[in-house]
Amino acid sequence: MKYIEPHAHMVSRVTDDYERMALAGCQAVCEPAFWAGFDRSSPAGFYDYFGQLTEHEPKRAAKSGLKHFCWLCINSKEAEDLKLAEEVIALVPQFLARPNVLGIGEIGLNKNSRNELRVFEMQMDLAARQDQLILVHTPHLEDKLKGTRLILDAFKSDRRIQPGRVIIDHVEEHTVEMVLDAGHWAGLTLYPETKCSPARAIDILETYRCERLWLNSACDWGVSDPLAVPKTAQEMKRRGHLTAAIEQVVYHNPGKFLSQSPHFRNAFSL
Ligand SMILES: [Zn+2]
Repeated sequence: MKYIEPHAHMVSRVTDDYERMALAGCQAVCEPAFWAGFDRSSPAGFYDYFGQLTEHEPKRAAKSGLKHFCWLCINSKEAEDLKLAEEVIALVPQFLARPNVLGIGEIGLNKNSRNELRVFEMQMDLAARQDQLILVHTPHLEDKLKGTRLILDAFKSDRRIQPGRVIIDHVEEHTVEMVLDAGHWAGLTLYPETKCSPARAIDILETYRCERLWLNSACDWGVSDPLAVPKTAQEMKRRGHLTAAIEQVVYHNPGKFLSQSPHFRNAFSL
């Protein structure tokens, strides 16, 4: 079955993962900018990372026949140092015209601190000024509900933001409804330990049956599974979902959201 992986941190994965994803039916992989697992010490580290995401990684993916797209930003885990954040945000615009860039992401909150919210707003403003799509990371576990509310309020208070051009990722049972009600798209992240298991994600899909939901693995340098999306598709099949309905969730839904980006449309036809 063909699918799109809309959230994967491939810089942390081996080339064999690209190969296995392609074999499982992956057509395109999208990589938000994120925390490397350690704090970068200067804007130069981000400059090189943005170069890696826009030049090197698409070539590596292409060797397995996969299209590679990316999102750019400074992530919330490195947002406490406001001066660093300002300098990194100033680097972003020069990369936005590169052909695989989809927008600003994954911006968001981690511990819901004042500085994180400030940096989130700066990047929301950048996206609005540059007419970019936005991908949002929501906090983990006990911080998720409050963080999601703060994020939704921020979007609501900025009239330039069109809700349908924002995907809010890592939603769970207690946050999915408020995200969809606000008109945004919602991402269900399939993670072995935290976030959603395949069974929980399918329960949510069965409850909300919405064209504004997508599935992703968010695989990175931690315990995670680059094949989580096709494995969940398999589980949906076992539960009796029709092939067309599964393909809607794992291929057409992400394709529809991402097609709002001219760079995606130029390189990929659904
Ligand atoms: Zn991520």
